[in-house]
Amino acid sequence: MRPRIAVIGSGPAGLTLARVLNRHGHPFTVLERDPARDARPAGGTLDLHEGLGQLALEKAGLLAEFQALSRPEGQAMRILDTDGTVLRDWQPRPGDRANPEIDRRQLRDLLLGPVEVQWGRGVTEVVPETPDGVVVHFADGRQETYDLVIGADGAWSRVRPTVSSATPQYTGVTSVETSLDDIDTRHPDLARLVGDGSVAVYGVNRAIVAQRNSGGHVKVHAQFREPLDQHANPDGQSGLNQPTDLNQPARLDQPARLDRPTDLDLAGVEVVRSSLLARFDGWAAPVLELLRHGTAFVHRPLYVLPASHTWAHVSGVTLLGDAAHLMPPLGAGANLAMLEGAELAESIAAAPGPGELDDAVRAFEERMWARAGRWADITMAGLERLVSPDPSQALALFDEVQPS
Ligand SMILES: Cc1cc2nc3c(=O)[nH]c(=O)nc-3n(C[C@H](O)[C@H](O)[C@H](O)COP(=O)(O)OP(=O)(O)OC[C@H]3O[C@@H](n4cnc5c(N)ncnc54)[C@H](O)[C@@H]3O)c2cc1C
Repeated sequence: MRPRIAVIGSGPAGLTLARVLNRHGHPFTVLERDPARDARPAGGTLDLHEGLGQLALEKAGLLAEFQALSRPEGQAMRILDTDGTVLRDWQPRPGDRANPEIDRRQLRDLLLGPVEVQWGRGVTEVVPETPDGVVVHFADGRQETYDLVIGADGAWSRVRPTVSSATPQYTGVTSVETSLDDIDTRHPDLARLVGDGSVAVYGVNRAIVAQRNSGGHVKVHAQFREPLDQHANPDGQSGLNQPTDLNQPARLDQPARLDRPTDLDLAGVEVVRSSLLARFDGWAAPVLELLRHGTAFVHRPLYVLPASHTWAHVSGVTLLGDAAHLMPPLGAGANLAMLEGAELAESIAAAPGPGELDDAVRAFEERMWARAGRWADITMAGLERLVSPDPSQALALFDEVQPS
């Protein structure tokens, strides 16, 4: 009898897990809350590292297809001073495939392949160790029983409370994301500014990062250090889009207050735009054009789980990806999620019986905690330096990571 396996969530973690299980001919069920494959925008671009995300794709037998789709030139990085002076202009060497970029939608489609996802199956609760196995409860009132339930359901996981009481905490940094379409034709000056990869500008406790996706689409992230209670009208009644690719809460924890001139008012697209332009007042005009031409805004306060998040093993339930180790979005989260998915799938496929399966999951958790803990420390320290009272820290970090 093969164990009944439920994968909750079809993000990078869940789909890589499913794809590798599929490759090993192991049965599984993927349960996803979104009502359909394209129910919401897939989000921006991801850089997949050679020893992490790319290794996972190799384990899934998808590396060659990834290489055909991905953009090595997207690794290019330009750093400007707030007055527009170019401080660094880094280009990847020909053949450099260390961290190529791929659009999330392309990655999602690549991973999905033959995997069947049950859409519209939002999980509300998971109850372990019942006589029949692990019981999964759904938003529509139904319930199903499995031998192993894998929580790949992101930052605000509904599986996590089964094993841990940890909840994501606000980092003190908020990101507001906007987008420009068809940049090469509609905004050729901005297209040159962004180049083939990214342009980043670092000021005091503030940053603007613009990143090219495929098809002339650019995502712009305006980031700043600020308490959440300085953000007014956060309830989605406005023209502001709800978060898309990360499973973030739709509402903020704090009551809205708007009694300081710098407050971020989220009441509508033009109000957000002027709030942002006020925050970056005095920055070089071409940089601010990125905000002036943005077509929609997404509010993304950055949350993290504790860097050392672990839990006492619960038989029949585990977590991976953001559900296990939410960290600042500095190029590690999807990579770790995918590698964990691939490794857990290989361990499951190699386990001959239920006892060995539980041991394999325990061993997987130990390995995941050790590696994710290191990355959580790295990315948290990185966020401190990239959105910092001393902008020279951001440049110093870049020089450490990407020596010329
Ligand atoms: C702006 C930004 C840029 C980033 N850039 C990078 C990058 O370049 N490189 C990188 O490695 N990482 C990056 N990250 C981080 C990366 O996006 C996440 O770490 C990654 O998506 C985590 O994958 P996951 O599968 O664990 O979770 P998710 O991608 O959040 O997927 C979770 C899935 O579970 C589903 N779900 C949620 N709740 C339920 C439920 N109750 N029932 C059923 N299904 C549910 C969701 O709908 C979703 O499909 C970035 C993040 C952001 C915000």
